[in-house]
Amino acid sequence: ALRVRGIRKNFADHTALDGVDLDVAEGEVVVVIGPSGSGKSTLIRCVHQLETIDAGAIYLDDELLGYERRRGTLRPMSARRVAAQRGRMSMVFQQFQLIPHFTVLRNITEAPVRVHGRAKAEAEAEARELLRRVGLADRAHHYPRQLSGGQQQRVAIARAVAARPRVMLFDEPTSALDPELVDEVLGVMRGLAAEGMTMVVVTHEIAFAREVADRCVFMEAGRIVESGPPDAMLTSPRTARLRAFLARHR
Ligand code: ATP
Ligand code: MG
Repeated sequence: ALRVRGIRKNFADHTALDGVDLDVAEGEVVVVIGPSGSGKSTLIRCVHQLETIDAGAIYLDDELLGYERRRGTLRPMSARRVAAQRGRMSMVFQQFQLIPHFTVLRNITEAPVRVHGRAKAEAEAEARELLRRVGLADRAHHYPRQLSGGQQQRVAIARAVAARPRVMLFDEPTSALDPELVDEVLGVMRGLAAEGMTMVVVTHEIAFAREVADRCVFMEAGRIVESGPPDAMLTSPRTARLRAFLARHR
């Protein structure tokens, strides 16, 4: 579904991504771990077309993202086409970013109705079904401030799913939550994985990686240092750097 080839990203004189390759197959769950500043957010932000890249290429379903070939050369796409490509992916952030003055239901239906031109009744029926799946069927008419952090994040995930993405990108979705609310959000993500959603998940939840990931990727200093099946990789890391990281995250 997703192919990242040799991408580089510089911020002024700092190299945030230093040649990253990543393949995510249809239905696969890839968990990205690594120390602060290693480039995890930058990687998924580049995939989601929130950052331009300085070298390399990203393909979604074999389509090059962000650039088009015109008269033999690659040129950046128009903002409109970039937005259309971005619309085929959904990103879930650490801060849930719900719209405070919209109800839960409207937070979920707004983009499908306004952006994708779906019929309101149909979008609402689907939103109610999604709310049921994330355990919030009775919260449709609440406002975000009336919900706990974990509930807000589950609404944010329902909203992301409502866009019918080909790939979902998660950037530390549980890091802003009180510890007792983490499991309810991970449970929703576990359900999506079981239903075959293609997912890239940045998280420090090592137990989640072990249980849900098809593949785990360890980043450091803008590179992928180690990757493989989570059980083998997290039980017996090959590099001293991953061993040291895991020692700090248990
Ligand atoms: P964390 O675990 O703390 O979220 P991360 O692995 O997600 O870290 P990134 O946010 O991807 O790390 O940042 C990678 C590097 O790029 C860091 O050194 C960071 O300071 C730098 N960086 C990221 N965004 C910008 C920006 N907009 N401008 C300048 N430097 C940036
Ligand atoms: Mg980050």
